[in-house]
Amino acid sequence: MRLVFVAVAALVVICPSPPLAHADPGPPPFDVADPAIGRLDPALLTAIQNAAVAAAADGVSMTITSGWRSPEFQQQLLDDAVQTYGSFAAARQFVQTPELSKHVVGQAVDVGGVGADQWLVTNGSRYGLCRIYANEIWHFELAADALGTCPQLLPDAASPGPAKMTP
Ligand SMILES: [Zn+2]
Repeated sequence: MRLVFVAVAALVVICPSPPLAHADPGPPPFDVADPAIGRLDPALLTAIQNAAVAAAADGVSMTITSGWRSPEFQQQLLDDAVQTYGSFAAARQFVQTPELSKHVVGQAVDVGGVGADQWLVTNGSRYGLCRIYANEIWHFELAADALGTCPQLLPDAASPGPAKMTP
């Protein structure tokens, strides 16, 4: 039992990032044969493709580590996170339920590639793309308003969203 605790503590120290921060950078956003990309909301897909072209011109290679997810896969991620973080409440800071996840409805992307998240934080609003959570620099949604302004960051996925989001 003590050994298990030490192992878990070591894992948390060594891997401070949540389980969705994949080592695999994933496919480019043009790989629409991959359902994780092909089943994204068309407006989000166009936005992330346009952003990827502009990022490439700046020397930044942008990939999608996670896009559309089936409800079953989202539940599996949540179950895995409960195992990793030890409680449902802790897991929910990093993984949404299938009912609330924007990934399940194709309205969220997690970006990969060196520097791609920072590039998108700086330039994403030009494409309507906004970082949503303070603890997930890689997660973006089409959330900018007509003036290209992104909503205030939520602390994490467990936070209640803004009272009114644009449709
Ligand atoms: Zn995400």
